[in-house]
Amino acid sequence: MRQSPIAHRAVPVVGYGTWKLEESPRAEAIAAVRAALDAGATHIDTAELYGHGCVESLLGEALAGRRDEVFLVSKVLPGNASRKGTVNACEHSLRRLRTDHLDLYLLHWEGPFPLQDTIAAFEQLVASGKIGAWGLSNFDVDGLQAARDIAGPGRIAANQVLYHLGERAIEHAVLPWCAAEGVALVGYSPFGAGDFPADHPALLALSAETGHSPHQLALAFLTRGPGLFTIPKSADPARVRQNSAAGAIRLSPDQLDRIAAAFPRGPRPAELPTL
Ligand code: NAP
Repeated sequence: MRQSPIAHRAVPVVGYGTWKLEESPRAEAIAAVRAALDAGATHIDTAELYGHGCVESLLGEALAGRRDEVFLVSKVLPGNASRKGTVNACEHSLRRLRTDHLDLYLLHWEGPFPLQDTIAAFEQLVASGKIGAWGLSNFDVDGLQAARDIAGPGRIAANQVLYHLGERAIEHAVLPWCAAEGVALVGYSPFGAGDFPADHPALLALSAETGHSPHQLALAFLTRGPGLFTIPKSADPARVRQNSAAGAIRLSPDQLDRIAAAFPRGPRPAELPTL
């Protein structure tokens, strides 16, 4: 598994997403999480939003005895992200996750509270050891710049944004901004949240040549550069293993060009696409 730094930690470039994991039978969901850990996809992404806390509770059970293997990420809901509310929300997440710290804590998207207050709470949580680092999600360049102006350089550890073959808008401005500022870029919904073009001729041709599945080719493409991470979700242990193995794949410049040509970036949209 390739690794890249987030906040001075070496983190697997292919991690594991948990949105809607509570919709699977609990034992199967727990088996899928453990398959991710066994396969080296120890970058686990969750949020207080997911299943209204149920997914964090499920992870608390799945990660029992294995917390130290994991780079654990959760997110505060914008409606909770006041100065006090952020700290409270984090403490609730920690209890559900049965841990004393998160490795990374994100603002899920920009909301009603001033960014200064959320960032002050994040810094308080870092100082108290409850989180290792903080970051943002669904932030375009304007919001990133505002956060950087408040926090100073080197404080935003990551920005988590929509990124898949059919949605490459972040490449216009968010990706270059993050690269210049040393902010890790974590792409979410790498399979379009389940709407994946597995039968696209370009993917099928490359798959026949390389032996990698279309899903694996997508993950390898999405993590092709430094500072790029992806967090596919699957409740199926065999798929989890297949997805995780993509973290070891390095495509050649020609192979990357062929994927890029088959799934063009398109013009920069007025607003950053989100789910
Ligand atoms: P995704 O990872 O793009 O796609 C998940 C879907 O693909 C599921 O239906 C899954 O089905 C299927 N799948 C996974 N691996 C497969 C494989 N190898 N072959 C065939 N099908 C496969 O969707 P996502 O859950 O939206 O995104 C991933 C993670 O990003 C989330 O779980 C969450 O952690 C994060 N996220 C963050 C935000 C944000 O606002 N920050 C928004 C959305 C998502 P099975 O489960 O049945 O295998």
